[in-house]
Amino acid sequence: MPKIICEKCNEIINLSEIPSKNQWMIISDIHLDECWENDNINSDKLYSKMEIMVKCPNCQTLHVFWNGFEKKPQIYLPCSEKD
Ligand SMILES: [Zn+2]
Repeated sequence: MPKIICEKCNEIINLSEIPSKNQWMIISDIHLDECWENDNINSDKLYSKMEIMVKCPNCQTLHVFWNGFEKKPQIYLPCSEKD
């Protein structure tokens, strides 16, 4: 995954760096719990259950790839500045 374009500000978010400072790997509490085996984390299981989240370094909008990186991400906008 080389880069994506921010849905809010059109920033080009580069993801070619490994590890990437713009990319987060997220996992639900339930899935994390399923990765424990005899006091050890099964890292294969862990990676298979993680979702990719990309945070725009310019506007902080979150792009969560709930259905894999091939599908369009769900967009989460930061609270507005009006408060
Ligand atoms: Zn942005």
